[in-house]
Amino acid sequence: MHGLSPRDQIKLEADEMREMGYRIIDMLVDYNGAQSQFPVTRALDQVTFDEILSEPLPENGSSWQDVLEQFERQVLSTIDHLDHPRFFAYIPSSSNFVGAMADTLASGYNIFNALYPLGTGAAQIERLSVSWLHKLVGMPEGAGGLFVSGGAVANLTGLAVARQVLLKGDMQDAVIYCSDQAHFVISRGLRILGFAPEQLQEIPADHNFRLPVADLERAIAADREAGKRPFCIAATAGTTNTGAVDPLADLADFCDRENLWLHVDGAYGTSACLTDHRKMELAGIERAHSLTWDAHKWMFQPVECSAVLVRDRHWLGDTFKDTAHFLADAETHSKKEAGEEMNYMYQGIQLTRYFRALKFWMSMKVFGLGAMRQAIERGFKLAEMVESLLRDAGQWEIVTPAQMAIVTFRYKPDNGDQTLADAVTDQLMGAMATNGFAFASTSKLLGRPVMRMVTNNPRTTPSDLRQTVTLMGRLAADLERRLSRTQATH
Ligand SMILES: *Cc1c(COP(=O)(O)O)cnc(C)c1O
Repeated sequence: MHGLSPRDQIKLEADEMREMGYRIIDMLVDYNGAQSQFPVTRALDQVTFDEILSEPLPENGSSWQDVLEQFERQVLSTIDHLDHPRFFAYIPSSSNFVGAMADTLASGYNIFNALYPLGTGAAQIERLSVSWLHKLVGMPEGAGGLFVSGGAVANLTGLAVARQVLLKGDMQDAVIYCSDQAHFVISRGLRILGFAPEQLQEIPADHNFRLPVADLERAIAADREAGKRPFCIAATAGTTNTGAVDPLADLADFCDRENLWLHVDGAYGTSACLTDHRKMELAGIERAHSLTWDAHKWMFQPVECSAVLVRDRHWLGDTFKDTAHFLADAETHSKKEAGEEMNYMYQGIQLTRYFRALKFWMSMKVFGLGAMRQAIERGFKLAEMVESLLRDAGQWEIVTPAQMAIVTFRYKPDNGDQTLADAVTDQLMGAMATNGFAFASTSKLLGRPVMRMVTNNPRTTPSDLRQTVTLMGRLAADLERRLSRTQATH
């Protein structure tokens, strides 16, 4: 056989690889060093998007320079920067460069982290990282867990384990409870697992947007009375809307008494465990049977990086273990040498798995827990500062005060007109997206629109906050003028 050209072997020459790699590193360093000078958002409609980026699959390749240039021009220029110091919308992902480089290594060496004998060090790093998370939360010896793509999959995994361990697969009449502030991925996860919609009971939250234990107890007693089988409570530690934390210790007591599974969706809030005094706000979280913790939200990792933790590591194997003849030898080999929990293909949904633990481990090692702890504490402080800036500005009503680095608020017109307040609050997000200097998002609480600011980026400065609050005030006043004028002409 004749030798193939490098291109036909799907590779680049060494010089080209170096040049491409250095060019990309330069781009990333330039971006990370000067993020605040970039617009946060790039509002584009779908039509424009279709115009700028649609093409047939090319039969012949082109130069990497051309493709990288197209990426810069048509992709980079159209993304919102979740790691920008003035991105306060949804739940920001502030990321870090070490984590991004770890991702490059994980992909560059194409590390397959599914079966312990195929990558001993990698499996060990995942086990070690998960054990660090257990310690931070305060979960017992013998707890297990693994890294997954995000909170959606972590919750799905936790609920799948609950179903297997408590129900042994018999889902008839089983009921799961959460508050109406739970993230939608809980109900979606249950749907994927085959539960009918009526098997999830959403209890209306109390005035602090927490799951009310007394109402929950009543609902469960009534369901038992009706012959149903309550089996799981899906609590939230730090709701996406307001940062509210369900009363975890009371729920854990109740679950113990009633033999229920406590799943805690701490995708966002679990990170408060890094600091001792903030951890008190999460008291009881260590008693969860299963727990979701997104490292790409408040542990400064690039997307995708989340962990699902369970109190007994055998539960994962009980749920996900299977056998395949083509892997039998590798398994026998691995049983001799290591705990089954290191064969990650049997601990969760994925078989082929990317080495996500690497970025967590590497950035923890490079920055240290001390820096991470201060970065988390800073998030709390920044939110308290936003709250006081908003109060001082006099144009805003605080709906929920700073908790877990989230503040929610509404526009407060001088005349107190709530319909106008709704309209201004609703349209402010769009006005911010068009402006591009800073970005926050809206949600609904008790049927009315609210703005949310989430301040979990440790690179956000007090000046960023002041300028953002000033900008929002100006945009809101513009909106109010425009809306009042339209009303007047009708
Ligand atoms: C963000 C979030 C999720 C979803 O997590 P992803 O990482 O986006 O998949 C689930 N629950 C809560 C409370 C969240 O904040």
